Amino acid sequence: MTLAETHPAMDALLANRLRNAQPALWINPARQAQPAVALPALGRTISLDDTQAAAARLARFAGLLAQVFPELAATGGVVESPLLPATALQAALGWAPEQGRLFIKADHGLPVAGSIKARGGMHEVLEFAERLALEHGLVQPGGDYRALASPAAREVLGRYQVAVGSTGNLGLSIGVVASALGFKAAVHMSADAKEWKKDRLRLRGVEVVEHAGDYERAVAAGRAQASSNPLCHFVDDEQSFSLLLGYSAAALHLQQQLAEQGVAVDAEHPLIVYLPCGVGGAPAGIAFGLRQLLGPHVHCFFAEPVQSPCFLVQMLADATQGAGQHPSVYDWGLTNRTEADGLAVPRASLLAAELMQPLLSGVFTVADDTLFVQLVQVLDALGERIEPSAAAGFSGPAMLTGTTAGQAWLQNTGVDAVLHNATHLVWTTGGLLVPDAQYQGFVQRGRAVLAAQG
Ligand SMILES: *Cc1c(COP(=O)(O)O)cnc(C)c1O
Repeated sequence: MTLAETHPAMDALLANRLRNAQPALWINPARQAQPAVALPALGRTISLDDTQAAAARLARFAGLLAQVFPELAATGGVVESPLLPATALQAALGWAPEQGRLFIKADHGLPVAGSIKARGGMHEVLEFAERLALEHGLVQPGGDYRALASPAAREVLGRYQVAVGSTGNLGLSIGVVASALGFKAAVHMSADAKEWKKDRLRLRGVEVVEHAGDYERAVAAGRAQASSNPLCHFVDDEQSFSLLLGYSAAALHLQQQLAEQGVAVDAEHPLIVYLPCGVGGAPAGIAFGLRQLLGPHVHCFFAEPVQSPCFLVQMLADATQGAGQHPSVYDWGLTNRTEADGLAVPRASLLAAELMQPLLSGVFTVADDTLFVQLVQVLDALGERIEPSAAAGFSGPAMLTGTTAGQAWLQNTGVDAVLHNATHLVWTTGGLLVPDAQYQGFVQRGRAVLAAQG
């Protein structure tokens, strides 16, 4: 069935809203109740075992991480975030208690990288380090990885380089973790990357290469430079399994946190998760893990800026034109300009898109002004500091109840009958390291928008 057949009138309406950079909701007609594990185009399968292997790798390195990052001493090297009840924010967002309960997954406070990139980025650097450490006999399988902190081990790792192309946050994560382990590190930054992120990396001895173009250009330049150096590992945000699996490990911890807070996930108690999406690796990894672990009653929605809905246009192309398409937001007449710099990506990861095709519930878009307003509401109601990208998920509940597409989805899935029992989980993906002056600017902009709205 084509999208036009399943969503007769909505199709043209959605396309118009997308083109005009107006907030829109797309529902995935290809979502399946059973989680799929095969990725035909990529010639491999992926399963919960892969997620568990990533979590086990992070655990093997915990002792070393606690030693090289003072901020991880308290958690013994575990990089995790709390699951916070957000009832106070619910009122500010105009979300009635009968419409379910709101939580936030507070990745905006993740240590080391200050964003969700701590998960995937750290995992990929550790996977590279582990392979080298075993090859060079710096550690034994099952041994104590704290041996990698020795000057001799660092000298060996220091012969290698880790490189990445990024709008900022991924570079921050990769650069900081790689340099802490003794690697040389190079980060290719797009023009929209913030100065403070470049400064922070340079302070750590990371080589920052600035590019005039967008995120794709930075990635391409990094990939090209790395390919000429056999001692360089390039972290490829557009096609990395290692990143994706690092993100997916978050689902294992969230499952525990939900149980601890007494949150059930079943037909009577759906869990709806709203994830900010850039290239798609982070939200796809997490959505994959959640669908594997929690079954069909977890519904994942991705959130993108109205000028950068790369994942949405990819899913639309897959649904209407079949596989093999790779449209960009520029093809839709959009600018890819947004203050949500972590999400300023013109073209989605095909790996993430293929993985999400049978698993994702939908994608919606958000205007920048709304991000700033919600950033302020999060501060006022919860006292939490998030960056604009991290606010993208907060429009999710209202997109479901306040749009025709959302209401149809609620009815078709039967979620409307049990909405009062639903748990809404907004993933707040970054903020900790934003300098105060920058953050105050965000707050001022949000308050100005609120004042103008009266
Ligand atoms: C990178 C990023 C995301 C999205 O991750 P992708 O893998 O690019 O989809 C969301 N929020 C923030 C703050 C980010 O830095």
